[in-house]
Amino acid sequence: MASVRKRRGCSDRLSLRWPTSATEGHVLIIFGLQVVYFTLSKGVFHCPDCGGDREYRRRQGRNFFSLFFIPVIPLNKTGGEFVQCSTCKGRWNMGVLEAPTTAQLASMPALLMRLAAAQVLRSGDVTHPGAREHAVAVVRRAGDHAFDPAALDYDLSRPFDQIRVEIANAAGALAPEARENILGAAAEIAFADGPLSASEEETLAVIGADLGLTRVQVTGVLTLARQSTGR
Ligand SMILES: [Zn+2]
Repeated sequence: MASVRKRRGCSDRLSLRWPTSATEGHVLIIFGLQVVYFTLSKGVFHCPDCGGDREYRRRQGRNFFSLFFIPVIPLNKTGGEFVQCSTCKGRWNMGVLEAPTTAQLASMPALLMRLAAAQVLRSGDVTHPGAREHAVAVVRRAGDHAFDPAALDYDLSRPFDQIRVEIANAAGALAPEARENILGAAAEIAFADGPLSASEEETLAVIGADLGLTRVQVTGVLTLARQSTGR
Protein backbone atom coordinates (compact mmCIF):
# COMPACT_ATOMS: atom_id res chain seq x y z
CA MET A 1 0.00 0.00 0.00
CA ALA A 2 1.34 3.49 -0.88
CA SER A 3 0.21 7.00 -0.03
CA VAL A 4 1.27 10.48 -1.24
CA ARG A 5 0.78 13.67 0.74
CA LYS A 6 1.69 17.27 -0.01
CA ARG A 7 2.79 19.64 2.71
CA ARG A 8 4.23 23.12 3.03
CA GLY A 9 7.35 23.64 5.08
CA CYS A 10 10.86 24.61 4.14
CA SER A 11 10.18 23.06 0.74
CA ASP A 12 7.78 24.48 -1.80
CA ARG A 13 6.39 21.07 -2.46
CA LEU A 14 7.00 18.06 -0.33
CA SER A 15 5.97 14.49 -0.87
CA LEU A 16 6.06 11.53 1.41
CA ARG A 17 5.98 7.99 0.12
CA TRP A 18 5.78 4.67 1.83
CA PRO A 19 6.49 2.01 -0.73
CA THR A 20 5.79 -1.46 0.51
CA SER A 21 7.53 -4.64 -0.19
CA ALA A 22 6.63 -8.09 0.95
CA THR A 23 10.25 -8.76 1.88
CA GLU A 24 11.70 -5.34 2.97
CA GLY A 25 8.81 -3.75 4.85
CA HIS A 26 8.14 0.05 4.78
CA VAL A 27 10.69 2.60 3.42
CA LEU A 28 10.04 6.34 3.99
CA ILE A 29 11.17 8.64 1.13
CA ILE A 30 10.77 12.40 1.51
CA PHE A 31 11.27 14.46 -1.63
CA GLY A 32 10.12 17.78 -3.01
CA LEU A 33 11.08 21.15 -4.49
CA GLN A 34 13.23 23.59 -2.60
CA VAL A 35 14.33 27.09 -3.59
CA VAL A 36 18.03 27.81 -3.07
CA TYR A 37 19.33 31.39 -3.34
CA PHE A 38 22.74 32.04 -4.88
CA THR A 39 24.82 35.17 -4.43
CA LEU A 40 25.89 36.56 -7.81
CA SER A 41 27.88 39.55 -6.54
CA LYS A 42 28.36 41.80 -3.52
CA GLY A 43 28.76 45.52 -3.08
CA VAL A 44 27.69 48.61 -1.18
CA PHE A 45 24.41 50.41 -1.83
CA HIS A 46 22.14 52.97 -0.21
CA CYS A 47 19.50 50.88 1.59
CA PRO A 48 16.15 52.75 1.57
CA ASP A 49 15.07 50.99 4.78
CA CYS A 50 18.29 51.43 6.76
CA GLY A 51 18.68 54.95 5.33
CA GLY A 52 22.43 54.60 4.83
CA ASP A 53 25.23 52.77 2.99
CA ARG A 54 25.07 49.04 3.58
CA GLU A 55 26.56 45.91 2.09
CA TYR A 56 24.30 44.04 -0.31
CA ARG A 57 24.20 40.73 -2.08
CA ARG A 58 22.77 40.40 -5.58
CA ARG A 59 20.87 37.14 -5.50
CA GLN A 60 18.94 34.74 -7.67
CA GLY A 61 16.76 31.79 -6.70
CA ARG A 62 16.81 28.38 -8.33
CA ASN A 63 14.48 25.45 -7.82
CA PHE A 64 16.12 22.24 -6.67
CA PHE A 65 14.77 18.76 -6.47
CA SER A 66 15.34 17.83 -2.84
CA LEU A 67 15.64 14.50 -1.16
CA PHE A 68 15.22 14.33 2.61
CA PHE A 69 15.29 18.18 2.64
CA ILE A 70 18.67 18.27 0.91
CA PRO A 71 18.70 20.02 -2.51
CA VAL A 72 20.25 17.57 -4.92
CA ILE A 73 19.26 18.35 -8.52
CA PRO A 74 19.27 21.95 -9.83
CA LEU A 75 16.21 22.82 -11.91
CA ASN A 76 14.99 26.14 -13.40
CA LYS A 77 15.66 29.65 -12.09
CA THR A 78 12.77 31.10 -10.13
CA GLY A 79 11.92 34.83 -9.88
CA GLY A 80 14.21 37.62 -11.04
CA GLU A 81 17.50 38.81 -9.63
CA PHE A 82 17.18 40.97 -6.55
CA VAL A 83 19.31 42.95 -4.13
CA GLN A 84 19.30 41.97 -0.46
CA CYS A 85 20.54 44.28 2.28
CA SER A 86 23.00 42.40 4.50
CA THR A 87 21.87 44.41 7.54
CA CYS A 88 18.05 44.55 7.48
CA LYS A 89 17.65 41.63 5.02
CA GLY A 90 15.24 43.80 2.97
CA ARG A 91 14.88 42.80 -0.68
CA TRP A 92 14.87 45.29 -3.53
CA ASN A 93 14.70 45.14 -7.29
CA MET A 94 17.89 45.87 -9.23
CA GLY A 95 16.93 49.52 -9.83
CA VAL A 96 17.89 50.35 -6.22
CA LEU A 97 21.57 50.15 -7.24
CA GLU A 98 21.16 53.21 -9.48
CA ALA A 99 20.80 55.55 -6.49
CA PRO A 100 24.17 56.97 -5.39
CA THR A 101 25.55 55.88 -2.03
CA THR A 102 26.19 58.45 0.70
CA ALA A 103 29.92 58.07 0.09
CA GLN A 104 29.45 58.71 -3.64
CA LEU A 105 27.35 61.78 -2.89
CA ALA A 106 30.07 63.10 -0.59
CA SER A 107 32.67 62.75 -3.34
CA MET A 108 30.41 64.29 -6.01
CA PRO A 109 31.58 67.93 -5.66
CA ALA A 110 35.24 66.91 -6.05
CA LEU A 111 34.41 64.65 -8.98
CA LEU A 112 32.48 67.38 -10.77
CA MET A 113 35.19 69.93 -10.01
CA ARG A 114 37.78 67.58 -11.46
CA LEU A 115 35.78 67.09 -14.66
CA ALA A 116 35.02 70.80 -15.04
CA ALA A 117 38.68 71.71 -14.45
CA ALA A 118 39.82 69.43 -17.26
CA GLN A 119 37.21 70.82 -19.65
CA VAL A 120 38.11 74.45 -19.07
CA LEU A 121 41.87 73.96 -18.95
CA ARG A 122 42.01 72.26 -22.33
CA SER A 123 40.06 75.09 -23.94
CA GLY A 124 42.86 77.51 -22.92
CA ASP A 125 46.62 77.08 -22.55
CA VAL A 126 47.04 73.58 -21.07
CA THR A 127 50.78 74.18 -20.51
CA HIS A 128 50.31 77.39 -18.51
CA PRO A 129 51.89 76.61 -15.08
CA GLY A 130 49.61 79.01 -13.17
CA ALA A 131 46.43 77.61 -14.73
CA ARG A 132 47.54 74.01 -14.14
CA GLU A 133 48.48 74.74 -10.53
CA HIS A 134 45.16 76.44 -9.94
CA ALA A 135 43.29 73.51 -11.49
CA VAL A 136 44.99 71.04 -9.12
CA ALA A 137 44.37 73.38 -6.16
CA VAL A 138 40.62 73.78 -6.75
CA VAL A 139 40.07 70.02 -7.12
CA ARG A 140 41.94 69.42 -3.85
CA ARG A 141 39.93 72.18 -2.21
CA ALA A 142 36.74 70.39 -3.32
CA GLY A 143 37.81 67.29 -1.37
CA ASP A 144 39.98 65.14 -3.65
CA HIS A 145 43.19 65.58 -1.65
CA ALA A 146 45.12 63.01 -3.70
CA PHE A 147 44.58 64.90 -6.97
CA ASP A 148 47.90 65.75 -8.63
CA PRO A 149 49.33 66.94 -11.99
CA ALA A 150 49.49 63.35 -13.28
CA ALA A 151 45.77 62.89 -12.60
CA LEU A 152 45.13 66.19 -14.35
CA ASP A 153 47.06 65.01 -17.42
CA TYR A 154 45.00 61.83 -17.44
CA ASP A 155 41.77 63.84 -17.38
CA LEU A 156 43.06 66.08 -20.19
CA SER A 157 43.65 63.00 -22.34
CA ARG A 158 40.01 61.90 -22.07
CA PRO A 159 37.44 62.78 -24.77
CA PHE A 160 35.68 66.10 -24.20
CA ASP A 161 32.24 64.66 -25.03
CA GLN A 162 32.69 61.72 -22.65
CA ILE A 163 33.39 64.10 -19.77
CA ARG A 164 30.34 66.15 -20.78
CA VAL A 165 28.12 63.09 -20.28
CA GLU A 166 29.70 62.37 -16.89
CA ILE A 167 29.15 65.94 -15.70
CA ALA A 168 25.51 65.86 -16.80
CA ASN A 169 24.94 62.51 -15.03
CA ALA A 170 26.50 63.61 -11.75
CA ALA A 171 25.20 67.18 -11.60
CA GLY A 172 21.68 66.26 -10.50
CA ALA A 173 22.99 65.09 -7.12
CA LEU A 174 24.10 68.63 -6.17
CA ALA A 175 22.13 71.71 -5.19
CA PRO A 176 22.18 74.66 -7.65
CA GLU A 177 24.47 76.69 -5.33
CA ALA A 178 27.04 73.89 -5.29
CA ARG A 179 26.90 73.66 -9.09
CA GLU A 180 27.36 77.41 -9.39
CA ASN A 181 30.41 77.16 -7.11
CA ILE A 182 31.93 74.54 -9.41
CA LEU A 183 31.41 76.73 -12.47
CA GLY A 184 32.88 79.70 -10.58
CA ALA A 185 35.99 77.70 -9.66
CA ALA A 186 36.31 76.53 -13.29
CA ALA A 187 36.15 80.18 -14.39
CA GLU A 188 38.99 81.02 -11.97
CA ILE A 189 41.11 78.40 -13.74
CA ALA A 190 40.31 80.03 -17.08
CA PHE A 191 41.26 83.46 -15.73
CA ALA A 192 44.60 82.16 -14.42
CA ASP A 193 46.23 82.53 -17.85
CA GLY A 194 44.69 85.94 -18.61
CA PRO A 195 41.29 87.26 -19.75
CA LEU A 196 38.78 84.73 -21.07
CA SER A 197 39.39 83.65 -24.66
CA ALA A 198 36.37 82.99 -26.89
CA SER A 199 37.09 79.27 -26.59
CA GLU A 200 37.25 79.40 -22.78
CA GLU A 201 34.02 81.39 -22.59
CA GLU A 202 32.29 78.91 -24.87
CA THR A 203 33.54 75.97 -22.80
CA LEU A 204 32.38 77.59 -19.55
CA ALA A 205 28.92 78.01 -21.11
CA VAL A 206 28.94 74.31 -22.06
CA ILE A 207 30.04 73.29 -18.54
CA GLY A 208 27.28 75.48 -17.09
CA ALA A 209 24.68 73.84 -19.33
CA ASP A 210 25.98 70.36 -18.46
CA LEU A 211 25.75 71.30 -14.78
CA GLY A 212 22.09 72.11 -15.38
CA LEU A 213 22.49 75.88 -14.90
CA THR A 214 20.52 78.42 -16.91
CA ARG A 215 22.16 81.02 -19.20
CA VAL A 216 21.33 83.70 -16.63
CA GLN A 217 23.01 81.70 -13.85
CA VAL A 218 26.09 81.13 -16.06
CA THR A 219 26.35 84.84 -16.89
CA GLY A 220 26.00 85.72 -13.20
CA VAL A 221 28.72 83.29 -12.14
CA LEU A 222 31.13 84.51 -14.86
CA THR A 223 30.53 88.14 -13.93
CA LEU A 224 31.33 87.42 -10.28
CA ALA A 225 34.47 85.47 -11.23
CA ARG A 226 35.58 88.33 -13.51
CA GLN A 227 35.15 90.81 -10.64
CA SER A 228 36.91 88.63 -8.04
CA THR A 229 39.92 87.95 -10.30
CA GLY A 230 40.09 91.53 -11.66
CA ARG A 231 40.22 90.32 -15.28
ZN1 LIG B 1 18.91 47.71 5.02
